[in-house]
Amino acid sequence: MIELEMVEGIGPKTKELIEKIGIHSGEELITHYPFRYDILKRSDLTIINDGDRIVIDGLIEGQPTVIYINKSLKKIIFRINTKTNILNVTIYNKAYLYQDLKSGREITVIGKYHKLKNTIVASDIRFGLLPPNAEIEPIYHTTNGLSSKQIGKFALSALNLEYQIDNLVPRYLEEKYNLMSKSEALLNVHLPSSIISLKKARQRIKYEELFMYMLKINYLKDRIVSDSNAITRKIDYTKIDNFIDKLPFKLTLDQERVVKDILKDLEEKKRMNRLLQGDVGSGKTVVAFIAIYANYLSKHQSALMAPTEILARQHYEDALKVFAKYKINIALLTSSTSLKERKEIYKGLESGDINLIIGTVALIQDKVTFKNLGLVVTDEQHRFGVNQRNTFKSKGVTPDVLSMSATPIPRTYALTIYGDTDVSSIKTKPIGRKEVITYFKKEKDITEVLEMMKKELDSKHQIYVVAPMIEEEDSNNKESVKDLEEKMNKAFGKIANIGVIHGKLDSKEKEKIMKEFESNKINILISTTVIEVGVNVPNASMIVIFNANMFGLSTLHQLRGRVGRGNVQSYCILIAPKSYERLKFMETTSDGFKVSEYDFLERGEGDLFGTMQSGDLELKMANIKKDYRMLLKAKEDADEFIGTLLTFSTNPEFEPFFKELSRIENLD
Ligand code: ADP
Ligand code: MG
Repeated sequence: MIELEMVEGIGPKTKELIEKIGIHSGEELITHYPFRYDILKRSDLTIINDGDRIVIDGLIEGQPTVIYINKSLKKIIFRINTKTNILNVTIYNKAYLYQDLKSGREITVIGKYHKLKNTIVASDIRFGLLPPNAEIEPIYHTTNGLSSKQIGKFALSALNLEYQIDNLVPRYLEEKYNLMSKSEALLNVHLPSSIISLKKARQRIKYEELFMYMLKINYLKDRIVSDSNAITRKIDYTKIDNFIDKLPFKLTLDQERVVKDILKDLEEKKRMNRLLQGDVGSGKTVVAFIAIYANYLSKHQSALMAPTEILARQHYEDALKVFAKYKINIALLTSSTSLKERKEIYKGLESGDINLIIGTVALIQDKVTFKNLGLVVTDEQHRFGVNQRNTFKSKGVTPDVLSMSATPIPRTYALTIYGDTDVSSIKTKPIGRKEVITYFKKEKDITEVLEMMKKELDSKHQIYVVAPMIEEEDSNNKESVKDLEEKMNKAFGKIANIGVIHGKLDSKEKEKIMKEFESNKINILISTTVIEVGVNVPNASMIVIFNANMFGLSTLHQLRGRVGRGNVQSYCILIAPKSYERLKFMETTSDGFKVSEYDFLERGEGDLFGTMQSGDLELKMANIKKDYRMLLKAKEDADEFIGTLLTFSTNPEFEPFFKELSRIENLD
């Protein structure tokens, strides 16, 4: 590792500043890549427009003057002679430049051109004329007191030091794509010699990142599959078939297929790591229960983890029902479980008395030890980070993991980012379900919405009303829960009971309100997004979402999934101050896979990759979405290379790869 102090020009003070931007070594300095490049090329004054960025060079004409605007604001004005023109230059707050600004001096000015006043408001000036060829200037993220230019200089100095540049693309692939060498690429990223070489340099670095990214995922997968602590089970298909037959409904074909996948995973001697994705209401929970039952039959404990307390409780109640006739001992563990109960539960888990534990993240605290944990199911797994998901591993054997998500990822993306995971999807909903009809309405059409609500209430159905926040936080008139409560009371106070629920209530209160809604004592439930996941009230036939523009599409889709759970036609009404393309899109489909695809293309990878890109799986220059094509190539190449790598693991040429791979060991 190169210590920062070893880099020319970095003293203790500068070091502190550099550390402030998260750089702690010379290597990190080198990979602190510019986030953009400015091209310094003389502007053509004959085509430049008012307000354009301008780059011009020439001689200072006459003596500059300093003007005091007020105590803290000064400006220098002068004129520049470009041989063809004379322009005015204004530069603010850089009075210290004054002493160097001498009449006749060669200077380059960069700034904004105000055509009418023939004036440049300079953002930057440099002494000397522009070089004959266009100059490309890297721009770095930085902090106060440290200029972008300084960072570039330090990066170059670090590159000049003698150190080991690990080449992380095998030679045959460098040749295949005619990639620039790594050292040349690093140099060109910080000091581009031309636009073409900059492009090639970036291509090289991005490819290497993506290749290593896929290689790491492959490596993780390989290690998971070959985990010697993985459990093998005998699956008792007769008993499981019986269990399925006794369910109050017939499984859909997709559910059957997914159950088969899972049972096969459980049976094989490999660690299951399966993502089960399916729209809200597609029936993932029952699939999880079947897996839990199979795991129980093989005499192992199961854990079911949910992101919210409400959801954990719901699962708990469902589980009690489903397993009522079986000897499965089920416990609920959340942050509101009393200390005494908690101790009992810990004991039960340690002794093996408890077969199934359901709970929130509190579950994974260190104190919990299992006798023989065989299966971990996480609901809405995208809410858990990689590290959290893996905490369970340390407890006894390596349990199988089933993750459920209602935010489906388009298949191709899933293959790449969840490359270490098998993916099963439930695409069809249980028969008899009617599609939720979605309407987009502007705020000014609120009376229309109220009429629609009235109709539902008249047919004894219940309604969710969602607001983005609890109280007015600022004055830009977003509807808060408080506002909506008033509004709803005014409109329906006489004919309906109105309840309010939000994240600031304690869990007892929340539970009470949810119970009242479930039993239809509350007809209209106003809430923030606490109801986003898990709530199951089949008699609720309408959800009205105010300021829908403030939510992401996948959240809206989740919310929409709260209705349409029974057999009545259900509606989702999205309300926003003005028209939004993406909200209109929600009217056109109720398919979560389509929503997620649209969201992905519109908004970029967003939170989808949030959990995956933790720690060493981070990409510095490449971008999974923008460089998606390259990613697919890199995946192909990594899939092919991993075999060679593992077979010839003693080949010294492969040492850098193993060094890099070993960095992900601590991801578990
Ligand atoms: P998800 O977790 O995928 O959002 P759930 O598992 O909560 O969906 O299922 C939603 C509702 O559908 C539950 O009430 C469940 O009992 C019911 N359900 C599940 N599978 C079926 C099926 N095959 N036929 C009819 N109803 C089903
Ligand atoms: Mg669910």
